[in-house]
Amino acid sequence: MLKLVQHDKNMTLNQRDKKHIWHPLTQHKLHPETIAITKASGCMLYDEDGNEYIDAIASWYTCMYGHCNPYITEKVASQMQTLDQVVFSGFTHEPAIKLSEALIDILPDNQNKLFFSDNGSTSVEIGIKMALQYHFNRGEKRNVLLAFEDGFHGDTFGAMSVSGLSVYNGPFEDFFLEVKRVPTPNGKNHDLILNQLEALVASFKIAGFVYEPLVQGAAAMQMHHAEGLNKILNFCKANNIITVADEVMTGFGKTGRYFASDYMNIKPDIICLSKALTGGLLPMAITSCSQNVYDAFYSDDITKGLFHGHTYSGNPLACTAALAGIELLKSEDIQTNIKQIIASHQQFGEHIQKHPKVQSIRQTGVIFALDLDIKMERYGNLRDKLFQFFMNNGVFLRPLGNTIYIQAPYVITETQLQKVYQTIEDALDSI
Ligand SMILES: *Cc1c(COP(=O)(O)O)cnc(C)c1O
Repeated sequence: MLKLVQHDKNMTLNQRDKKHIWHPLTQHKLHPETIAITKASGCMLYDEDGNEYIDAIASWYTCMYGHCNPYITEKVASQMQTLDQVVFSGFTHEPAIKLSEALIDILPDNQNKLFFSDNGSTSVEIGIKMALQYHFNRGEKRNVLLAFEDGFHGDTFGAMSVSGLSVYNGPFEDFFLEVKRVPTPNGKNHDLILNQLEALVASFKIAGFVYEPLVQGAAAMQMHHAEGLNKILNFCKANNIITVADEVMTGFGKTGRYFASDYMNIKPDIICLSKALTGGLLPMAITSCSQNVYDAFYSDDITKGLFHGHTYSGNPLACTAALAGIELLKSEDIQTNIKQIIASHQQFGEHIQKHPKVQSIRQTGVIFALDLDIKMERYGNLRDKLFQFFMNNGVFLRPLGNTIYIQAPYVITETQLQKVYQTIEDALDSI
């Protein structure tokens, strides 16, 4: 007989959640409470208690065209009546093909091939494998990777290895790939970095350089110089080090251009994309590469192929969402919104940087961050208090250490944006 799982109708979603769910990046003993979100629309999140919040970080920088964007959901709803999922080895389909054409059209000119997967970490993992196997296939043993200090590239082993922010990676460090690190370019240290690179290349066989271009998200939105990065990329190019731009966060308009890599003259060999790729509707990632990288795998020898694949690679629904997302990104409406957000952030920045509790502000495109002038432990109590203050006032922001940052959906209204600014200012006044 069919036995239905019973639950107490008087229990809240939050209470039922506690029974079986293990949340990501959460120490459940310290943070037992979750907020059950029942609905999302545009920039708003609604919880089971009837509260509403402005999603000022676009749910980890994904829903840039707004939650449940009708243009995207309608396209996907229609696609799911026709073709839901099919094996992507040996088969292909129109949503993937159309997406490939649209994406290649906006990616930097040297990008020519797309490899599909389903999350940001994996897109980096694939980028690393491409870089390592590129040299292997050409008969050259290169076994060391290069990365920035304080980078974050995800939670799979290759991605963890290149991440410099490894506060939580202690149990795994013995199993990491070999990685050498250089500081991010700050306008003053470019010669120093180049000297370090010279020394590293002399002692190690460096296969690839994995980096977040211009903005390091998890490092509390640290920003660096395009000119300095360009010099590093130039050095890598001269030494045949495969450059892997992790644009999982910066991609799709966040920096004011389609990709952060658009700010550099030297284009990366490989680009990793996810987060805003599908406008937050479905999980998907893409690792793009140049023809030169692809050619190193193209051979009569089967073992020279890239033998990596995921069950949901190239899922037609995710491809449809991504194609719709790119159409929105290119639209005049969204481009105008992006310019307005950038201008509003600049105004707010000029105003708030005079606040006695603000140490510094920074901005790249629609990404805005301010550092509090308060000595505090990273991820300490203040962060939790700020988070609570924002939530109590109807704004979803996730401070990182003593940094408050905004990365709102492009469709945020000026009124909503002003509320986010005001709430931040109120929080500064109240601490
Ligand atoms: C979020 C992020 C990742 C990891 O993506 P997931 O989808 O969470 O695995 C990798 N790199 C950068 C720069 C990110 O912001």
